[in-house]
Amino acid sequence: MSASLSASELKKLDAEHYLHPFSNYQEIKQKGSLVIKKADGVWLWDANGNQILDGMAGLWCVNVGYGRRELADVAHAQMLELPYYNSFFKTSHTPAITLSKALSEITPPQFNHVFFTGSGSESNDTIVRMVRQFWALQGKPEKRTIISRWNAYHGSTMAGASLGGMKPMHQQGGLPIPEIEHISQPFWYRYEGNLDEGEFGKSVAAELEAKINELDVDKVAAFIAEPIQGAGGVIVPPETYWPEISRICKEYGICLIADEVICGFGRTGHWFGSDLYDLEPDFMPIAKGLSSGYLPIGGVMVSDRIAQVFVDSGSEFEHGYTYSGHPAACAVAIENIRILREEKIVENVHDVTGPYLQSRWQELADHPLVGEARGKGFFGALELVTDKASKKALEKPGALGTICRDHSIASGLMMRSVGDSMIISPPLVATKSEIDELINRASQALNLTAKDVL
Ligand code: PMP
Repeated sequence: MSASLSASELKKLDAEHYLHPFSNYQEIKQKGSLVIKKADGVWLWDANGNQILDGMAGLWCVNVGYGRRELADVAHAQMLELPYYNSFFKTSHTPAITLSKALSEITPPQFNHVFFTGSGSESNDTIVRMVRQFWALQGKPEKRTIISRWNAYHGSTMAGASLGGMKPMHQQGGLPIPEIEHISQPFWYRYEGNLDEGEFGKSVAAELEAKINELDVDKVAAFIAEPIQGAGGVIVPPETYWPEISRICKEYGICLIADEVICGFGRTGHWFGSDLYDLEPDFMPIAKGLSSGYLPIGGVMVSDRIAQVFVDSGSEFEHGYTYSGHPAACAVAIENIRILREEKIVENVHDVTGPYLQSRWQELADHPLVGEARGKGFFGALELVTDKASKKALEKPGALGTICRDHSIASGLMMRSVGDSMIISPPLVATKSEIDELINRASQALNLTAKDVL
């Protein structure tokens, strides 16, 4: 059926039947959505045949790029051999076992155990239950509160969205759930005080210490954060931030949860954001780049000290998903990790293409609409302003970002806007010439936006 439908028929059916995630349904009914038909490498083709450079790696996930036949082949073979079996009630299968072992090899040394899920959100829901149970098993059932940050993104399930610090999400569905607290994010560009960047980083981190003291450490289970905030606008913290957060977590003996759903699997030029910032987390939610998005799979890396408490307890962890450790998804993740390792994709982002992307991205800072260009590895953000001195944009927050995003897609670059920040997170396999093309198209989008607003 699908092959024979025209672009306009697809748009019509889409508007009639499909309720999209994070979308304005009225706008879809009026204007239709962008229908993507196929992809290869870093390139997408829409239903009208337009070729678009995917500056977002799908949704921060297609790390090895599109069109990798090996990933399709292992999924096909696994589906024929064992398409599904669960791992509840002490059952198991080869793909989940093999992937667990591979993950213990590539993650920081304290991680030798994984709990599989279907997504990043499910991973964070799992952690909320697991970290509270960890403390309960040690006779501290009151240690339940998890401290997170405003403007963080940790998923869309009840616990995931509560951990997240997106106020528009909290306004729908009665969130946050109890015993989740938020502190400030380390967003240097938007800081309006007198501290320098290093002092600012420390002062935002100090909010964690103050919050622990305010709540009472006996009530606090953990702190959760993305090493670099992704969906909040690619916010790279000052160098002083993470060392101070690590010190506080250690000193107060609370668990550190490093949300690696975006940062993991090479995005920062390191295997994990925790490697970049030398973090020693107790939990790492993972998803996205784990399978490069080819099949849905997530997981929670659990440190030895936490896992040991669950083993020693002799009781069951009353939690699990039908698709925890799905065989075909695990087979794809194993093959994806093999590709990342054997093709030295993470090393290449670290040594060659990451620095190249960052230096070319910085050139955009000279554009009259760009207040700041920032990034790390294969992450980038541009803060759009109409006046660099005052850092002001248009009257309606996000309006400038939306104009630029529309010009970007029309210029053949999938670049996303978060408020008035333009963000990129391209597939990790993008070559230097594809990076040049990305920069050309981003410049064109900025120039067209400038024509509209300056
Ligand atoms: N954590 C982070 C840091 C994320 O960026 C996301 C998704 N963008 C999630 C969790 C939730 O993952 P999922 O959409 O797979 O549930």
